[in-house]
Amino acid sequence: VTPTATPSAKLREEYEALAEEVRRHRTLYYNEDAPVISDAEYDALFRQLEEFEALHPELVSNDSPTQEVGGEATAAFAPVTHLSRMYSLEDVFSLDELNAWISRAEASIASIGNGRPPVRWLTELKIDGLAINLLYRRGELVRAATRGDGRTGEDVTHNVFTIKDIPRRLAGEGHPEEVEIRGEVYIPQKAFQEFNDALIADGKAPLANPRNAAAGSLRQKDPAETAKRPLSMFVHGVGVREGIAATSQAETYALLKSWGLPTSPYFEVLESYEGVLAYIERFREQRHSLIHEIDGIVIKVDDFATQRALGHTSRVPRWAVAFKYPPEEVHTKLLDIMVNV
Ligand code: NAD
Repeated sequence: VTPTATPSAKLREEYEALAEEVRRHRTLYYNEDAPVISDAEYDALFRQLEEFEALHPELVSNDSPTQEVGGEATAAFAPVTHLSRMYSLEDVFSLDELNAWISRAEASIASIGNGRPPVRWLTELKIDGLAINLLYRRGELVRAATRGDGRTGEDVTHNVFTIKDIPRRLAGEGHPEEVEIRGEVYIPQKAFQEFNDALIADGKAPLANPRNAAAGSLRQKDPAETAKRPLSMFVHGVGVREGIAATSQAETYALLKSWGLPTSPYFEVLESYEGVLAYIERFREQRHSLIHEIDGIVIKVDDFATQRALGHTSRVPRWAVAFKYPPEEVHTKLLDIMVNV
């Protein structure tokens, strides 16, 4: 199909309706922590919008959901401007798509020029929680914010103070003037089960899933309520990091660990694409016996200089990709149907 030159009013209407539908689900998910469709259904809707835009690029507006980091800072919390932007991740939904992404990334890296080391892929789990940005000044936690739209997040500092995994003061000495630590706040699977069992025993409604429970718990108005929820965190990145000598993601994790920050036991630096594929298969099998729920695997270029050279789009880094496993809800529904038949 060739892209049309002048979109008809009907086409534009169709496009606006699709974009609006994506926005509606984003608001329910990010602002209200109460999605009404599954993540797989949302991903399919988002993909539909991307495909529509690829066919009709003249329709794409700057405020399309495909051009922005999803979410916004709601009025319930004070706004916080992140010192450096937070991004989303590009998704791929099959090994073929991953293959194509890796080939494109390797070609871009090769074209960047001499002196770059062969690509080392830092491969880790995509934790199903919500992103947090922690600002430490001279080793002291001074502010914590949700991602929001990537530029402005919500101030949840007092709630984050109640999370035991997150140190108020970093261990060791010689901390930078300012460093932004990014991570994922989540509820461990076991703690989620126990928390829900206690709710049920009390005659209360259980929480729907660990991701929404984590988001709802972190975004409480009263920190005393947050303190009752079993929240944890793993780091997965850094924002502003002046004065940090580490030259790669893996080196940075080692440094953050030495400062007492929680790093994931699951990440690996892999020298080959075959290694990445083996990692994906391993965790496909183990995905239900992990500390936390996952909604995929994240593959990142480990080297910071190469990350910088590749840069970002308005929504995602060009040096990382999220591989999503096929949704399991579909299988369950199919099984249900089969049982009902
Ligand atoms: P994303 O969740 O696909 O990817 C970006 C986020 O991944 C980051 O902000 C970070 O918080 C997180 N992350 C987890 N582990 C990470 C790691 N190891 N390294 C880096 N980042 C890691 O993108 P998104 O734009 O935040 O949201 C899309 C997700 O939200 C999808 O899973 C989508 O299905 C879901 N969603 C669902 C609905 C719904 O209605 N069900 C609506 C909107 C979004």
